[in-house]
Amino acid sequence: MICDKCGEETSVRHFLPGIAKVTGQVRHGMWVCAPCLAESCGITIPQSLIEKLSGAHYIKVAKCEKRPIDQDWPNHPMKPDDPALQQHLARGGNYGVVGGNGIVILDADIEGVKRAVEERLPGTYTVQSPGSLGWHAYYRSDLKDPVRLRDVDENGKMVNVGDVQGHGKMVVGPNSFHPNGRRYEVVKDLPLAWVSAEELREVLSPWIVPLKAKVRELSRQARRERSLVDINILDVVSLAGLRRSGDEYYGSHPVPSHGSSTGHNFWVNPSKNCWHCFRHDIGGGPLLWIAVEEGIVRCEEALPGVLRGEVFKRVLEAVERRGFKVPDFLKEKVGLEDEMIELGGWLNLEPEVLERLKYGYKKF
Ligand SMILES: [Zn+2]
Ligand SMILES: [Zn+2]
Repeated sequence: MICDKCGEETSVRHFLPGIAKVTGQVRHGMWVCAPCLAESCGITIPQSLIEKLSGAHYIKVAKCEKRPIDQDWPNHPMKPDDPALQQHLARGGNYGVVGGNGIVILDADIEGVKRAVEERLPGTYTVQSPGSLGWHAYYRSDLKDPVRLRDVDENGKMVNVGDVQGHGKMVVGPNSFHPNGRRYEVVKDLPLAWVSAEELREVLSPWIVPLKAKVRELSRQARRERSLVDINILDVVSLAGLRRSGDEYYGSHPVPSHGSSTGHNFWVNPSKNCWHCFRHDIGGGPLLWIAVEEGIVRCEEALPGVLRGEVFKRVLEAVERRGFKVPDFLKEKVGLEDEMIELGGWLNLEPEVLERLKYGYKKF
């Protein structure tokens, strides 16, 4: 098909009302391509969005596309009344809204995620993409690290089904044109709701998969722990009730008071000897797990540095009570508070260094 306005070949045409002269005849409108439609209509940022996000949160995006125009866009968001932005919009260019400064944007690409957002998170400003019919939900949040959402498709392949992020993230703003010639639409014109990082991760936990860097960090911690006390994670975490996916197991957090609202916030990797909680984005090896399970620390406190002093002493007592052998070199340190603090320091050392310490190196 040919666009009545620019004459270019187009796969989809859109009706543009108004009177136009085509080959001498008078017609009440034209059939045009998506970019010509955008150019004729121009784009305005909805006033209700400007009222909610009045600061510099906007960037120029190519006409009928999702691609930001300026290369350094994450660092140069514009105010809604910026003349350069206004000129771009008047010519039919799209615009994007950027996250950061306490604003995070949840991209929900599949029905399951949309339902979880609808049922479990507070209502907030929400825009629908006319392409995928996915949602962009805008929140105020303390979320720092981005969350990627994955699911297994019908062919058993892991696919992206959305994400949540702040700085460095942009979504195409409402009223912008999709390549299919339809507009991004506001589906919920509500104020931006506050959601904590913990709440976001818990609600989205069925789709969270630990990122590679996170798994590396967890398995490094697990190796450190194993060089202190040799425990297999499967001796302290039961796989009963967990679902398997490759080398990994998913299910409810086993501590009853912690629980899981989705049945999917806990992850174990037996081959890497580590565990992870999606709600608190925290985890480690068997010693940290014993600390959490025995109630010596709360799940959200289970960072590597917590295994020191009185906490570490109680963890080692629990280890012995459970029938595991605490090596003599560790026992000698127990009770000596200064030494315990030193031991806490050791936990941040590479496993190889700890290995050497075990065999009698006093100084290193
Ligand atoms: Zn055209
Ligand atoms: Zn937790």
